[in-house]
Amino acid sequence: MTKALIIGGGIGGPVAAAALQRAGIEAVVHEAHAGPGDNLGTFLTLAPNGLAALRTVGMLDAARRAAAFPTTGIEFVNGSGRRLGRLGDGSERGPAELRTITINRGDLQRALAEAARDQGIRIEYGKRFTRYTETDSGVAAEFGDGSSAEGDVLLGADGIHSLVRRLMDPEAPNPAYTGLLGIGGYLESSDVAPTAEATTRMVFGKRAFFGYQTGPSGEVFWFANLGHSEMTAEEIAARGDDDWKSHALALFSDDLPDITTIMRAAEPSRFRPLGTYDLASLPRWSRGRVALLGDAAHAVSNSSGQGASLAVEDALVLAACLRDLPDATRAFAAYEHRRRARVERIAAEGRRRGNQKVGSAHPAARLVRDMSLRVVFALIARFGSQAWMNDYRVDFEGSDSSPGLRC
Ligand SMILES: Cc1cc2nc3c(=O)[nH]c(=O)nc-3n(C[C@H](O)[C@H](O)[C@H](O)COP(=O)(O)OP(=O)(O)OC[C@H]3O[C@@H](n4cnc5c(N)ncnc54)[C@H](O)[C@@H]3O)c2cc1C
Repeated sequence: MTKALIIGGGIGGPVAAAALQRAGIEAVVHEAHAGPGDNLGTFLTLAPNGLAALRTVGMLDAARRAAAFPTTGIEFVNGSGRRLGRLGDGSERGPAELRTITINRGDLQRALAEAARDQGIRIEYGKRFTRYTETDSGVAAEFGDGSSAEGDVLLGADGIHSLVRRLMDPEAPNPAYTGLLGIGGYLESSDVAPTAEATTRMVFGKRAFFGYQTGPSGEVFWFANLGHSEMTAEEIAARGDDDWKSHALALFSDDLPDITTIMRAAEPSRFRPLGTYDLASLPRWSRGRVALLGDAAHAVSNSSGQGASLAVEDALVLAACLRDLPDATRAFAAYEHRRRARVERIAAEGRRRGNQKVGSAHPAARLVRDMSLRVVFALIARFGSQAWMNDYRVDFEGSDSSPGLRC
């Protein structure tokens, strides 16, 4: 195995290329967009497990430099501001560099792309993948600009709506709508009271769910999830940004006043929602010389806070399996075997958390919800039951006496 073609220069793609390079396999990334991170104005969190995987491939410093905030804890309150619980990321047990960060998705993409290029990795922009053909000796990818590329394997890191997936397995299920629309943005400054240090405040409101965190200079990152039936992008756009803003303000009108303060100050364009989707379980992650990673293989709801971290973990395990096993078919089978149970468990957890975000018009229903959330958060805090997500580490390199992952 000498050369891998990677489709997608988002989060998993550049990291997979860096891990493959360490495994002695040349990798070239092909990205549809003209450059990294354009027009991706939403935030995500990178958890200790994802940060540890980035450290393994020499990309941690770049990600940390691009981070907006450290976010080591989440405080949960109801719409009246009554505390329901607090969860930490458990990172106080490890080195400071692995503490969860909140980062703009575009800034993260740019940082990873630059770190990859610094390591000598080629990322070709403006290369929209259109199809592939496979022979006994290799695989060829074709792009919208008429060009093509050849390699030993093709890795689809092309996100939740992956074309590689659809071509590889036309029977694969489509991503499922989670019942939530997502909006969010960033304000340079705001009059709201600061959140606790390195803590996102999440509000189970009367009719919808809101999250925000203030930074040291008064800046605010915010997002909201609104329960809604599925809509196409055209239907969403047709409603108009001002109307969406009024709708969101109305949904939170009986909740914490800080929510209204933040949303009033935000541009109407920040209220045009995106549907949130997941892909809980695919029948197959590979076929022949083609395999999937990240959201292309298993999209988890953003309620899990793990999508980016899982894409990074996948990249390392896939590279290690290609390094350690003699042929692609066995390597892909071992990779899937190592990854499937973990990512499907996190997908289910993300779904469960998302289902709790939809408010209710009935005070009694909200009371029951708040009581059960209090119990759940207390149990999680007491028994550290988030550790299975955040404390996971991919042992890619190992040590002299104990070699890393052998697939
Ligand atoms: C609003 C929102 C909030 C989120 N919050 C979190 C969070 O808090 N924590 C978290 O960990 N995750 C979060 N996520 C999920 C996270 O962004 C994804 O899980 C992660 O980006 C997956 O990485 P990936 O590399 O698999 O795919 P992506 O980052 O989506 O990258 C796919 C790349 O493939 C390219 N591409 C697509 N088709 C083609 C083609 N035909 N040819 C060439 N290139 C192509 C795309 O342009 C893109 O650059 C959130 C996502 C959203 C939308």
